[in-house]
Amino acid sequence: MAHDSGAAVTPKFSIADPPAGGEPYLLTPGPLTTSAGVKRAMLKDWGSWDGDFRAMTADLRRRLLAIAGDKDGTYDCVPLQGSGTFVVEAMLGSFLPPDGKALVLVNGAYGQRTVQTLGYLDRSYWVLDKGDYLPPRGAEVAAALDADPTITHVVLVHCETSSGILNPLQEIAEVVAAKGRKLLIDSMSAFGALPLDPQTVPYAAMVSSANKCIEGVPGFGFVIADKTEIEAAKGRSHSLSLDIHAQWAAMEKTGQWRFTPPTHVVAAFLQALREHEAEGGVAGRGARYAANCDTLVAGMRALGFETLLKDGWLSPIIVTFFNPAHPKFDFNRFYELLKAKGFIIYPGKLTVVDSFRIGCIGRLDTAVMHQLVVAVGEALNEMGVDDASPPSSAINERAKLVA
Ligand SMILES: *Cc1c(COP(=O)(O)O)cnc(C)c1O
Repeated sequence: MAHDSGAAVTPKFSIADPPAGGEPYLLTPGPLTTSAGVKRAMLKDWGSWDGDFRAMTADLRRRLLAIAGDKDGTYDCVPLQGSGTFVVEAMLGSFLPPDGKALVLVNGAYGQRTVQTLGYLDRSYWVLDKGDYLPPRGAEVAAALDADPTITHVVLVHCETSSGILNPLQEIAEVVAAKGRKLLIDSMSAFGALPLDPQTVPYAAMVSSANKCIEGVPGFGFVIADKTEIEAAKGRSHSLSLDIHAQWAAMEKTGQWRFTPPTHVVAAFLQALREHEAEGGVAGRGARYAANCDTLVAGMRALGFETLLKDGWLSPIIVTFFNPAHPKFDFNRFYELLKAKGFIIYPGKLTVVDSFRIGCIGRLDTAVMHQLVVAVGEALNEMGVDDASPPSSAINERAKLVA
């Protein structure tokens, strides 16, 4: 099993409310399947200036800081309109000074997007590119920092959603702190389900969004940052709408978002935060996702599929499987067959081998994962695929993954 620590944990959650009207389960890393309660929370209109909505914004910020484990008021939380990418760009533009230099740790599409963003922002950077899915390790980060003393910040993707790899955050955070540099984290697909404690993983800022592990709907992201970093960011942003300091200063002063907030999304997110708390917070949510992942991986392996990653690097967020080598396997047909059975999966995002991905996050439990595995078996039969094992080239590729 992929997560032996989760084996003894019985998730507190069971699916009481499958998607309404026969809509499929979204086995995708956001937007994802939300609860009926989250959907219902959007059936009301809110005035953005009204005191009730301002109280909702304050509650949202307070709850996120509690999840982040901010014990002594060191950090603050700033929500920002837009999808996750907007808040990544806001973080980079606000916390990386124009005369700073970033070391970007890349092992997939989201790391590459960070590099692209720094290009737009005209910031200096080095890239440590590990390819599609190899993890950046502490020793090589240390060597890169030693080689260039002008590097001020390290940017890391916590869970690289393009492969599903869980990057060694702790190991890298220790090196960054020991070398006196600052850490910026894209924890988009991990925050709320995987631990990220500033006591053990010191960071300057991290970002996530409404529609990932908190299980809200898309529409805004948020940054959690050291207050001294936020204060130092005054006047630094390249962008009016992505200026974290300005958004923070306005919220502190008026309790409002500077520009029209996604009111229904905020209401849904607050309900999602209450459900997160009721499930046992980060530990409870992480245990359910780990159980989902274990059920998925065991079931798919029993059908003959193989995972891209070895168990030690699998995240309980999303899993990449190699396409079967069988000549009758056709991804588009596989996708449509699964959709007709009530499951939306995700295409692969690797450059070297053909693959697809299945998410473990959202309002899903192990019963849903069991149903999915049955549906996958039926889809293979319908395509006439009697062997789901990947081509040997895929296995050779995986052999490069050093544990
Ligand atoms: C989802 C995600 C993002 C943001 O993507 P958007 O499509 O802009 O929401 C950024 N980084 C990671 C690791 C993600 O999983």
